[in-house]
Amino acid sequence: MTVTEAGTAAAPVPTQATCQSTYQTRVANYWNAEENPVNLELGKIDDLYHHHYGIGDVDWSVLDEDEDEVGGGGGVGSGSGGDGDDAAKRRDRITAELHRLEQAQADLLTSHLGPLSPTDRVFDAGCGRGGGSVVAHLRYGCHAHGVTISRKQADFANDQARKRSIDDKVRYHHRNMLDTGFPSGAYAASWNNESTMYVELDLLFAEHARLLRRGGRYVTITGCYNDAYGRASREVSLINAHYICDIHPRSEYFRAMARNRLVPVHVQDLTAATLPYWELRKQADHLVTGIEETFLSAYENGSFQYLLIAADRI
Ligand code: SAH
Repeated sequence: MTVTEAGTAAAPVPTQATCQSTYQTRVANYWNAEENPVNLELGKIDDLYHHHYGIGDVDWSVLDEDEDEVGGGGGVGSGSGGDGDDAAKRRDRITAELHRLEQAQADLLTSHLGPLSPTDRVFDAGCGRGGGSVVAHLRYGCHAHGVTISRKQADFANDQARKRSIDDKVRYHHRNMLDTGFPSGAYAASWNNESTMYVELDLLFAEHARLLRRGGRYVTITGCYNDAYGRASREVSLINAHYICDIHPRSEYFRAMARNRLVPVHVQDLTAATLPYWELRKQADHLVTGIEETFLSAYENGSFQYLLIAADRI
């Protein structure tokens, strides 16, 4: 329904036929405006834009100050110029290291989608600027369809696919992942990489179950709150406020999957594996967003977990 009263500061009208809640419009506005260096500078390295966190051990040597310049007399540059260059090099090393860890996260998720063939289709729910679909396509040769509620992200991601000349197989759509309009049973695999906290899980898994063929694979990597700790902690609430999202408890994933024909085949707690990423990011003055300490406290006090769940569509 569209309200067109004169003088009303109208919310952006969704371009698809289906209704979008006011909340979803706010989320779309957030991602349409988002220009965080931690999302853009890392992606520029190899045009794989990820808007999720990283996993794996950090190469801490990236933090070392450069020693080459010490005693390197004879250079024409001024001392301060040399220092600036070294600081820039150090920043670049940190940026590249964070990107490597984010790429490792994407590779782990993607490895659980297969085996897939080049004729298979995969669905990337809440695709951001599109890196995950490119990774899946490069690995399996499959068709990938990404969906984001942000028009700007979908346009950006389609531009990237064109630049790589993979736009015949990798496409992005400005749609609601709860109601994609894609054909039923047409997908061999689907995933949410850090995008489940924006939606009700029952509605989300119903759409995945509809889209996946029988025996198809669903994978999510997500932050969830830990039922064994209790309810959502202060830190979890701060993360919700920061991103305008609603982090679900771990239990709710399994309940909602069971109700929607998704049977877990692999569950992996990635909490310990993501801590080094956050420790490094905290020290990346040029990339921090201000939420780093909160993530570290949430993981360390046991109230928050970073989880991978792979499930079969039965
Ligand atoms: N999966 C991506 C992006 C994660 S950020 C990556 O790994 O890089 C969260 C994403 O969820 C954003 O792209 C946002 O637009 C998307 N999103 C949130 N709610 C959505 C909805 N209802 N439908 C489609 N996308 C949604």
